[in-house]
Amino acid sequence: MSVTRISGFATKAIHAGEEPDFRDGATGDVVVPIHLSTTFARKKVTEPTAGYEYTRSLNPTRKALESKLAALENAKYGLAFSSGLAAETTVLLSLLKTGDHIVAFDDLYGGTKRLLNHVFTSYEVSYADATDVSLVEKAIKPHTRLVWIESPSNPLLKLSDIKAIAELSHKHGLILVVDNTFLSPYFQKPLDLGADIVVHSSTKYIGGHSDVLGGAVLLNNSDYYERIQYHQNAVGAVLPPFDSYLTARGIKTLAVRLEQHQKNALAIAHYLQQHPKVKKVIYPGLESHPQHALAKRQATGFGGVLSFEIKGTISDAEIFLEKLQIFALAESLGGVESLIELPSLMTHASVAKEIREQIGITDTLIRVSVGIEDVNDLIADLEQAFN
Ligand SMILES: *Cc1c(COP(=O)(O)O)cnc(C)c1O
Repeated sequence: MSVTRISGFATKAIHAGEEPDFRDGATGDVVVPIHLSTTFARKKVTEPTAGYEYTRSLNPTRKALESKLAALENAKYGLAFSSGLAAETTVLLSLLKTGDHIVAFDDLYGGTKRLLNHVFTSYEVSYADATDVSLVEKAIKPHTRLVWIESPSNPLLKLSDIKAIAELSHKHGLILVVDNTFLSPYFQKPLDLGADIVVHSSTKYIGGHSDVLGGAVLLNNSDYYERIQYHQNAVGAVLPPFDSYLTARGIKTLAVRLEQHQKNALAIAHYLQQHPKVKKVIYPGLESHPQHALAKRQATGFGGVLSFEIKGTISDAEIFLEKLQIFALAESLGGVESLIELPSLMTHASVAKEIREQIGITDTLIRVSVGIEDVNDLIADLEQAFN
């Protein structure tokens, strides 16, 4: 299929990597088959059939997904991993060596911080408030090699200026990695803004149905790609064939899902904003968000996650959450179903209370991953829980 025919995002999401095979003996499947075979037979000792030898190294179903993911992020190369953290681990392992320094956003996903603080202990890390580019610059040292950011962050939905941080990183000869899980490539394309590497937890919006774990790395630099691909095979952190199929199936509706996630999130943000029991609503799509202008400049949408603080105590928050009937009281995000959680007692329970309060994760801050149900039902559910 020619590139011109698949230039739009939704078209790529459906067709990239899954062009029907019309070669002799092929059947023209419109969906890539699930190739479960772990090994591939060859006719000649030195000639692997179509490049396939062993599934950890290369598998046709995973390869189809990787082409699709690369097409969506406008990347030359894509790699699919067994989880978001497996993707992150492989990037960190491939590009840095003992003693190298990393500047990381102080509001990163907790699992990423755990990797940096407790697994890659041979690297040095400085955390900076990446909402302010000058603080990122201040944290750079002579042995800094890499900058790691996430925008918007979780659960406070703070933004970093990806283009400005990419320019800064390149001025200092550093690699910029952006975790693009929260907005997905449908709303934000960090490589187009100058980032070197995009990582994803495809467990979230990309898979989209809370039924498959996965991670991805997308990039244009062939040297970094070869190093990461080498380590992916060496370490074995690959996405299995069935999971690759499920993820590719989820991607086909990414555009329509995210439009609806965003529509519902905006309606709920407006509902909460005028509610007498709500103290504060945080959503980049609201004009009250301090970085609303940046959100509009660097992304084409605001996503489906919002946070709000209710008036009262932590037990008021618990009672409210336990009364909900449609919203599932659960961690994670990005699925078609609405999820809601209390960071102070769930996702961020391991963060010390003083630090939580300092950065704004108060006892009554609630995070919502707004699903694509009928928004009237979602608002009615919130309303009955408030009463
Ligand atoms: C969930 C998540 C991860 C980790 O991904 P897993 O698939 O759970 O390993 C990384 N970054 C962000 C922003 C996430 O939300």
